[in-house]
This record gives sequence, structure tokens and C-alpha cells, in this order.
Amino acid sequence: MKIRYDLIKNNVAEIDRSFEFEESSDLYHVKEFKGRLEKVGKQYILSGDLSYSLTSKCDRCLESATVVGEATISQVISNVEIVSDVVESDGLTDEEIDVYVTAIDHFDIDEFLREEVLLLTPGKKLCSEECDGINY
Ligand SMILES: [Zn+2]
Repeated sequence: MKIRYDLIKNNVAEIDRSFEFEESSDLYHVKEFKGRLEKVGKQYILSGDLSYSLTSKCDRCLESATVVGEATISQVISNVEIVSDVVESDGLTDEEIDVYVTAIDHFDIDEFLREEVLLLTPGKKLCSEECDGINY
């Protein structure tokens, strides 16, 4: 879903998203993201709660494995590159502030959540911590 900046009313857009996507034959499910995009000065703050699951093959036994997780999102969003002298007036430097830069006219919430879930899911997927692997 794309959120067009010029359609945001009263500086706040409420967000409630749920969708699935595939990535290298794994099935990811953004079960729920409830939050808001709020305009603060020239930037936007995205905040909310994310729950997700990943269905994949266990790295040890190749049985189907599902990983579930939750995360609290708090992210500065900007549709313009923030130059360091502007940021420094807040007492923060470039390194201390993590800004997600979007297209000039819209924020693609699905693309953002997709990247977030990919970052959150572990590299190793196991059906359980005690998995012994394939029994010969
Ligand atoms: Zn396993």
C-alpha cells in the first residue's frame, strides 16, 4: 500500500496492514501492522506494532518450520535527503539518526515492512531448537 503524502489529513495517517510475500521460496506473512505515520516538521515518524511469521524449511531436517515474531517499529521517514547541518541543529549527527528515505510523493508501507521483516528473521531457520537433523 502506498501512502501519498499529499493525502495525509491533519498530519497523521493511521495504518493497519496485513499481507504475505515470498522471498527465495520462503513464505513471509505480515500478520498485522498497526500504527501511524505522523508528520513532524519536514519529516514523518512511523510508529506501531508489527507481528509476523515466516514459513520455511528447517535448515537441519528440511521439515517445514515456522518462525513467529513481533517488533515495535519506530522509524524516521523522510521524502528528502536530510543534510547533516539541519540534523545537527537537533544535537544529532548523521550517524545517530537512521532515516528511511522514500519517494518524493509517497511512502510504500508494504515495501518498508517487507524489508523490516527480512531484517528481523534469523538466517538460520529451525523447526525447533532441539532439532537433531535428518535421521539416517
Ligand atoms: Zn528440524
